[in-house]
Amino acid sequence: MKEVIKGFRKIVYLSFPPEASGRPVICNLTRLFDLNFNILKADISPRHLGSMTLEVSGMEEDFHKGISYLKENGIRITPVAHKIFRNEESCVHCGLCTAMCPTDALSLEMSTRKVIFDVEKCSACGMCTRICPVKAMTLDLDENK
Ligand code: SF4
Ligand code: SF4
Repeated sequence: MKEVIKGFRKIVYLSFPPEASGRPVICNLTRLFDLNFNILKADISPRHLGSMTLEVSGMEEDFHKGISYLKENGIRITPVAHKIFRNEESCVHCGLCTAMCPTDALSLEMSTRKVIFDVEKCSACGMCTRICPVKAMTLDLDENK
């Protein structure tokens, strides 16, 4: 595998049709597109409808190629941006997450000194969920909600 800077990271929710559930399409993301992946949640069994929440990292161009490949194999991709939540009561507006957020979905409002969360800008990279000291940012992996 060629050495690349793993600069892009995104969490996606995949729905597998029965005919794709037994195929090694996820492993092929690494083999064909040099992407790393981390399975956050999966409910897959051969010849049945399946679902998986996947964290994918690599080069952005390779990410898009990999996603196209999954779609060509009949897999439905849903963005999980709306599965990132902030607990308003827990947030202490320390601002740590604003330094990490690649899309400015988390930003400091100068007039109030409060950190604002704009879910429409969120790319669901998950970085804030790791850095928040009070665990105010969470990723909801329950696809039934
Ligand atoms: S890191 Fe956590 S506590 Fe600090 S501003 Fe961000 S969400 Fe709030
Ligand atoms: S709000 Fe969190 S999950 Fe969304 S883009 Fe910013 S750091 Fe990533």
